[in-house]
Order: sequence, then structure tokens, then C-alpha cells
Amino acid sequence: MNDTQIAQMIEKEHDRQLYNIELIASENYVSHDVLEAAGSILTNKYAEGYPAKRYYGGCEYIDEVEVLARERVKEIFHAEHANVQPHSGSQANMGVYMAVLQPGDKVMGMDLSAGGHLTHGHPLNFSGTIYDFCAYGVRRDDETIDYEEARRVALQEKPKLIIAGASAYPRFIDFKKFREIADEVGAYFMMDMAHIAGLVAAGLHPSPVPYADFVTSTTHKTLRGPRGGIILCKEKYAALLDKKVFPGMQGGPLMHIIAAKAVCFHEAMEPGFLDYQKQILTNAKTLAARMQEHGYRIVSGGTDNHMMLVDVKGSIGMSGKQAEKLLDLAGITCNKNTIPFDQEKPFVTSGIRLGTPAMTTRGFKEKEFTQVADWIHEVLSHPDDMAYIENIRKEVRALTGQFPIER
Ligand code: PLP
Repeated sequence: MNDTQIAQMIEKEHDRQLYNIELIASENYVSHDVLEAAGSILTNKYAEGYPAKRYYGGCEYIDEVEVLARERVKEIFHAEHANVQPHSGSQANMGVYMAVLQPGDKVMGMDLSAGGHLTHGHPLNFSGTIYDFCAYGVRRDDETIDYEEARRVALQEKPKLIIAGASAYPRFIDFKKFREIADEVGAYFMMDMAHIAGLVAAGLHPSPVPYADFVTSTTHKTLRGPRGGIILCKEKYAALLDKKVFPGMQGGPLMHIIAAKAVCFHEAMEPGFLDYQKQILTNAKTLAARMQEHGYRIVSGGTDNHMMLVDVKGSIGMSGKQAEKLLDLAGITCNKNTIPFDQEKPFVTSGIRLGTPAMTTRGFKEKEFTQVADWIHEVLSHPDDMAYIENIRKEVRALTGQFPIER
């Protein structure tokens, strides 16, 4: 690359990714093939519209790419219709909102402090400013979704759209229950499966597709594709939805990214993908159990999926912010996260969120994740001992160096 400044920054980021233990639950390492498609000459092409209905000439091969991506993702999730153009998960959600809502309409989503995503009604996000959100949360006793509260709020508020899905919820979600609530109040039901899409693809988490009118997802989390979004829906909504994605809220699709999505869908149909997703779950259970052995409280008592929330405040009196910072010093990357009924501000938090998809891709298994839990405990037990933490940083570097990343 001639741009030496950017080349150096990429090199530094490569080393950071290689030598750190990546526990951010929404991140992953893509394959060489996904990188190749994402970095391909398809980025040069404008293709506003949809296959066979473009506003530009020269789209014959681009059309093949988009058709293949759509067919593959429909096959994986047994969906009637797929739109693979959303540039991100947020825009996938926006596409659905635009398809079924008018500004000011009532929507019900999961309380953000209980795990819901920014686009599920945060007051500073487009969702919270354009639409009128109400929320359901989790029960105080077991910290799992309070379906009775969801029904109660829905009956009272009469939302036009009900959203399930979250950024920080470690348990299975009961889509049938949400469908029943939606039917009872005459609402559309949308599931945002961004975090768990890979597990759903592998059949290790129940699928929302038979129950939801719309299913949105990112492609870059457990699904292990390029950064991007998708929307699945019933055929009866296909024309409406497509019109709202383009020309409703986006211009030209990112065809290099759509090609990379197609590659990731292909990989998700390979036999190795099921093994990968199974290992994500085994690793998450291993990490959660070992953290519990060290005396940490895991929100809801464990995990059914790829992530967990550790109540560091309740366990050792440390804020999530401080825990994140200390772990960073040791080369262990995670994020502070609110936990249900958190007393701390979102920028401080009582918890950290840990996820296993990225390091599972690198090849970490039970042995390595047990070691990861031990290191986390050792770092958090020595907050003032920088020499001790620096020593762990060296050990982390030695281990991660043995698990190369694709480039
Ligand atoms: N939905 C959920 C549940 C998410 O966790 C995220 C991202 O973290 C998104 C949507 C948004 O995805 P993006 O960052 O691609 O806009």
C-alpha cells in the first residue's frame, strides 16, 4: 500500500487483534475469503435498485452476486424473503420500522438497561426520536425476560410493533410467547437476532423465522461475516420492505460487502460451522463456570448462548468501567455493560460483558477459556499491582501468538 500512514495503522491494529484476547461478544474474525470479497473490485460498482431492476447499466454480474446472497441466506434460515442490502444492523432495523410504522407510532422493545439495543428506542437514537417506545424488562429474581410484564405493557400501550432481541441477554428467547402477545394486541412482531444469528443458523438456538413477521440481523457477530445487515420476512411483506430499504433509506448497495455476506452464508452451510457454533457454546459455559468458581456472580446464573454478564460490582465491588480498563492493560478486551436494575450510570456500569465467538474462531477451547477466566480473576484481584498485570500481559501475548488470525 502506498499510503504508509494507513498501512502502519492497519499493521498496528493487526498486532492488537493478534496479541489480545478478544472477548467483545459482538466481534469476530472473518475468514480470508470474506476479507477477499470485502476488499474486491465490486466496491467500484453502483447498483441502485434490485437484481434485474437496476437504475444503472453494467449490473449483470452484480445481479448474480446479490441473487446468490439472497438465495443462500433464505436457505440457511428457511426464510421466504431476504433483503441483503442494509449497510448495518441499525439500518436493517430502520428498514423494518419504515416498512410498518409512521412517525410517532408506539413500539415495544426490550429495556436498554436490561439488554436491548440502541435502535430499540434509545432517546438519542433515531428509533427513540422518531417513534414512541415503551419497554419490557427482565424479572428481578432470575433476570430472565418477564413475558408477563411484556404482555401487560403491550395490552396497556397497544404497540404497533413488538421487538425481541438484545445486545446483552444471555438466555434463550421464547419467540412463540412474543408471537402470542403480538397477536393478542394486533402488533407486528420483529426479532433482532444480530447477536445469535450464527447459533440460529446452526440450529443451536430456536429460530424466530417461523414466528416473526420480520427478522433482522447483523452479519458480523456470531455469523462471522463482514460488517453489515440483513432482513428476512414473509413473502407478503417483500415488496413493501424492499421499497423502504431502497429507495426509502439507502442509495447504492455495497456490492463488495454483499459478496462477502454471500461468502459468509456459504461458510455457514459448511459442516465445520456447526462444530464452530457448538464450541462457542461449550466455551461460554466453561468461562461462566470458571468465573463462578472464582466467586463472581453471573447474571441469570449462567448462559445459554455465546455471552455472559459478570456482575463485578456485586462480586468484588469494582465498577464495570474499572474492570474493563484493568483487563485492557493485560491484553484482555471486553466491554463494561449495565446489568439488570443497575444502580450505576451507563458509562460506569456494574458489569462486564464477555463473549466467546471471536476466540473460538481463533481456536480457543475449554483449556484456553479456563485460563482466560483465571487471568481475568488474577487481574481484577490485583488492581494496584501494575507489575503483576504486566506479567499476565506477557503470558497473554505468548498464548495469543500461537493462534494466528486470517488476513
Ligand atoms: N441489533 C443488535 C441486537 C445489536 O447488538 C447491534 C449491534 O451491536 C445492532 C443491532 C446494530 O448493528 P450495527 O452496529 O451494525 O448497526
